[in-house]
Amino acid sequence: MHTKLFIPGPTEVREDVLQIMSRPIIGHRSKEMTDLYERIHNNLQKFFNTKNEVMVFTTSGTGLMEGSIRNVIQSNVLNCTNGSFSERWYQIALANGKNAEKMAYEWGKSVKIEDVRAKLETGKYEGIALTHNETSTGVRTPIDDFYKAAHDNNALLVVDAVSSLAGDMIDVNKADVIFAPTQKSFALPPGLAIVFISDEAMEKAKKVSNRGYFFDFIAMHDYYVEKKQIPATPAVSLFYALDYQLDKMMKEGMENRYRRHKEMANMVQKWGKDNFKLFAEPGYESVTVTTIENNRNINVDAMRKELRQRGMEISNGYGKLKDKTFRIAHMGDLTPEEIKELLENMDEILSKVK
Ligand code: PMP
Repeated sequence: MHTKLFIPGPTEVREDVLQIMSRPIIGHRSKEMTDLYERIHNNLQKFFNTKNEVMVFTTSGTGLMEGSIRNVIQSNVLNCTNGSFSERWYQIALANGKNAEKMAYEWGKSVKIEDVRAKLETGKYEGIALTHNETSTGVRTPIDDFYKAAHDNNALLVVDAVSSLAGDMIDVNKADVIFAPTQKSFALPPGLAIVFISDEAMEKAKKVSNRGYFFDFIAMHDYYVEKKQIPATPAVSLFYALDYQLDKMMKEGMENRYRRHKEMANMVQKWGKDNFKLFAEPGYESVTVTTIENNRNINVDAMRKELRQRGMEISNGYGKLKDKTFRIAHMGDLTPEEIKELLENMDEILSKVK
């Protein structure tokens, strides 16, 4: 039996998308591949309404957490942390030898613009690393004001939008670097990650030494300008899927896609409040994933096991939030009807699982 994924990545991939990937492989230096990448490149700019640089790497999100820091930060970066993935990003900055400073919030809270602005005004930071959607806590930090605050202080805004880009409404023009892998709201298999980069960030990258090799934005840019190709061998089958999915996304439109996500988020969050409590600070609930506080102390794995027997999968809490919370994703190509079915099943199970 197929288990439908309501976990915050990898998300459910539709059958037609899976089928597309079974096409024969083409050479990565062929004319077909060049056309394919150029079309993906242009459609990404079109869907996200931007002229910013766009690149597709064969990697998961973590690759671009590292790559973004390597490209645009020479030394001083402010890592805003409010959950597990933003903590990881801070560790990644340190692991890459950066002088990273952590501004930590309690898990469940969003990052606050006033605090960031005050830090930026010291003039110490080249950039801020911000996690738009903390997948561990279900918290969304609106980014628009952060971009201005960064630019007012000669710094860049670097955003992890791993679990929100293509689901939530995000203006990629309001970030200097913003990235997401394919296995979350794009509703594709894992294996690719997309990044948008501002002109300011590209200029900065030119001056940063030790950008590394695989994720070097300048090398990627130059190769694209010269050949419309990617320096290393890309995951060709996944490019078929991304190309196909972008057509579907453009038919739906960003606004409608956001509305569908918001409708699903409202359903899950109402259910969460009726039955438990939401973990996120009120007003900052994610549009793509809801973290529910297990304030009734139910056996989360028992509930998940029951759900799996019914062909549906949700997630336990992440890291230290395991069993204290559980997570329901409402991202990608899922529909409100599917969420309704999930919640009805959870109601039935809850009456049995203590
Ligand atoms: N950042 C966030 C917010 C995430 O949710 C995740 C993955 N769940 C990552 C980074 C890491 O991405 P990946 O697993 O694709 O490397």
